[in-house]
Amino acid sequence: MGSQFRDLDAVHADDLDNLLLKVGLIKQFKGGTLKCKFCHDVVTADNIYSVIKDSGQYKVVCEKAGCVSQLMQFVATRKPKVD
Ligand SMILES: [Zn+2]
Repeated sequence: MGSQFRDLDAVHADDLDNLLLKVGLIKQFKGGTLKCKFCHDVVTADNIYSVIKDSGQYKVVCEKAGCVSQLMQFVATRKPKVD
């Protein structure tokens, strides 16, 4: 499987599970302890907006307008290090 990682604004539950499994966050997600990078609310299948890589770690972002706009700024200001 190649990396087909990209911003996800619409994910199916199965894809989401697979993605979170791949990035090592599935346990926290299922346990209800996975938190939004920006507002630190618990992120669930209902409010997840995106999965991002931040300083080598994967983080999730919830779908609140404030968090989405912070995400846009975050993505715009950082230099993607693709390796
Ligand atoms: Zn948030």
